Amino acid sequence: MKLQRPKGTNDILPIELKEKEQFKSSDWQHVEQVARSVFADYQYQEIRTPIFENYEVFSRAVGDTSDIVSKEMYDFYDKGNRHISLRPEGTAAVVRAYVEHKLFAPEHISPTKLFYQGPMFRFERPQAGRSRQFHQIGVECFGSVNPATDVESIAMAMRFFDQLGLKRITLVINTLGDKSSRETFRQALIDYLLPFKDELSEDSASRLAKNPLRVLDSKDKRDIAIVANAPSILDYLNEASQAHFEAVKTMLEALNIPYVIDSNMVRGLDYYNHTIFEVTSDAIGNAKTTICGGGRYDGLVEYFDGPKTAGFGFALGVERLLLTLKAEEIKLASNLPLNVYLVALGESVNVAALQIVQAIRNQGFSAERDVLNRKAKAQFKTADKLNSELIATLGEDELNQSVIKIKNAKTREERAYPLNQVYQDFALIYDELI
Ligand code: ATP
Ligand code: MG
Repeated sequence: MKLQRPKGTNDILPIELKEKEQFKSSDWQHVEQVARSVFADYQYQEIRTPIFENYEVFSRAVGDTSDIVSKEMYDFYDKGNRHISLRPEGTAAVVRAYVEHKLFAPEHISPTKLFYQGPMFRFERPQAGRSRQFHQIGVECFGSVNPATDVESIAMAMRFFDQLGLKRITLVINTLGDKSSRETFRQALIDYLLPFKDELSEDSASRLAKNPLRVLDSKDKRDIAIVANAPSILDYLNEASQAHFEAVKTMLEALNIPYVIDSNMVRGLDYYNHTIFEVTSDAIGNAKTTICGGGRYDGLVEYFDGPKTAGFGFALGVERLLLTLKAEEIKLASNLPLNVYLVALGESVNVAALQIVQAIRNQGFSAERDVLNRKAKAQFKTADKLNSELIATLGEDELNQSVIKIKNAKTREERAYPLNQVYQDFALIYDELI
């Protein structure tokens, strides 16, 4: 039987394949390294939570009526009859851990800034930029109600995209206000939408009662036409909510971060309040692609039985980010660098070749050798493919004389060195040839 990867999952290989959506593992490493370095500048520290959690962690936090919980969760009962879910997103799990380990206790630094990265699972229809196992990099900041935290987090996301070289991206912001503003708006929205109930798409009609805000970001053409004249949350903000949003806008301007406001953007998760944002790209095709989304979630820690603690976070999709980078034709870090390739000629030099590459590696250089006893020509070809900086050649004659020939692959300059020197001071040889 031919076994294949499950539908909607990908293998991340070190080589590039012509298949769609196949990225080299070195691209992933590059993106992760840039994230780590940018996040470190903002004092974010890594948290790793399990890839599965108790089902309730997500059903409660993300919301029973959200697409994620109602349609997309991979959940099952384990052999101990516990209701388990593969994580569809990161925030709920991080909040669970934050409360469980009492990271809010006074001995910890506040605000608590955490980042995570890893696979997420959603049962969706796989297509470009949408898979069943995908990867997110995300951050959460606990303990600050200051709108400066919203703006700092957004600035950090933008800095990350900037460091990767993305140009064709837009920051979109909106506010959902606080609970009371949202309640008033919710009612106004229901009052407006109810007369259109029969004209709305099936999904939106069913959301009308449970989660009417979600109708606002429906992608259905009929819904879009109806929603065009719907009331705007911005007209229903109470004073505090308005002040928070104004402060966010002022601070973004103070940092010269361009943004657009989309009052119909609501995001798919139930836990947000006040500021929400998305980063979209227009580099792929005609439609906009959302690569990053996040916002404020001040009630979530309490919801998990922790103390009243403000929160702000975002998550970005790595696959979608890589697609965007590709669409903008941004070249990422190349293959692993190789300092030396040792061309080993004949069985009789097998042991010496092993000793030599080990000695070079032990001195802090990268080295590779032929282990297949191939003809010289094939070995030189491999050295070329691996883009090796230096090529060393060792045959029986050289070994008998205790020397080795080493050449610079680019300049073709070649010299013979005593093997002793390779063993004791390869750095000197490297400096001389490079
Ligand atoms: P969408 O509206 O595209 O379904 P979402 O609102 O469900 O996105 P979030 O839950 O906000 O997405 O997740 C943040 C980011 O994670 C998205 O902007 C996207 O880049 C990525 N993402 C979400 N779902 C998938 C998926 N199934 N496959 C690949 N990436 C995904
Ligand atoms: Mg989704």
